[in-house]
Amino acid sequence: TRKRAGRNGAHIFDPSMLDDTIHRSEIESHIEQALKHDWFEVHFQPIHDLATGSIQGFEALLRLRHPQKGLISPAAVIPVAEETGMIGRIGAVVLDKAVAQLARLSTFPSLEHAYVAVNFSALQFDPGLSARIAAVISHHGLQPHRLVVEITEAVLMEDNPQIRATLEEIARFGCRIALDDFGTGYSSLNYLNRFPVNIVKIDRSFVSASADPSPSVAFKSRLLIEGITMISHKMDCQVIAEGVETEAQARTLAEAGVNFGQGYHFARPMPFETLLERFATPAVAPDVVAG
Ligand code: C2E
Ligand code: MG
Ligand code: MG
Ligand code: MG
Repeated sequence: TRKRAGRNGAHIFDPSMLDDTIHRSEIESHIEQALKHDWFEVHFQPIHDLATGSIQGFEALLRLRHPQKGLISPAAVIPVAEETGMIGRIGAVVLDKAVAQLARLSTFPSLEHAYVAVNFSALQFDPGLSARIAAVISHHGLQPHRLVVEITEAVLMEDNPQIRATLEEIARFGCRIALDDFGTGYSSLNYLNRFPVNIVKIDRSFVSASADPSPSVAFKSRLLIEGITMISHKMDCQVIAEGVETEAQARTLAEAGVNFGQGYHFARPMPFETLLERFATPAVAPDVVAG
């Protein structure tokens, strides 16, 4: 069913799946309350040009801010949201906030052209999705290419005609499509020629393996990153490395031809207000955000 493919297959083996029903129903009630009281937030993690350090865009990452329990991560929220059918409403909130907040960030000259990348689950690909995306970005006055739709390979795995048609509509409209966690699926390369992909996000596991203590693992991982990057570029895709945690990794990636990086080395995901403050304080803005 579509539901089984709904999430990056990884969560099937996620220990959180062993959570008892009490925990699950607790999350479910947090989600219901969050939708009702506007507790969902979008945190922004910058994506940097590895050569110049400049910010190209941001990934929008969901957080549930519970008044008593604090921030609850998407790893807890998304699977429950998918199973209960609440993912559609959450996705609508994320999209609207991400686009509205990017539009506000655009008033800073260095972010005039920045994009926002929003994660979508397979279950969000109903026939109305591309029209809803179009409505949101025009409502906030954003050009279509400044929204990137992030999907995992799991979304494409079943080759669902509905999903394909919706992706093609989104691409025709001018939004860009990023393939997230690239290399962790079952036939990663096969998606590049069959779907309208513009951006490949090399999974964090390749990035950390490129700095593996075993020289042979590190060397082969670098070859894989080089190869993925070369193929992606030939397919006219930009390449972003995820989970860049050290300066050495950033250097290795740049040497492998990767153009863009995202990770704790540059910045952690941060609330919109934090980002606003950093950019509104000219003396510290670029350095602090660039890490
Ligand atoms: P993702 O789309 O692959 O997002 C990247 C994840 O890696 C984020 O986790 C981010 O905080 C984390 N990360 C970034 N840099 C580093 C680093 O240097 N090291 C390490 N170890 N991790 C890093 P987060 O925010 O917990 O999100 C987890 C996943 O939840 C996302 O993975 C995405 O699949 C999903 N997700 C997040 N927001 C949404 C959403 O609005 N809708 C949907 N459908 N899924 C979402
Ligand atoms: Mg993502
Ligand atoms: Mg990712
Ligand atoms: Mg991931």
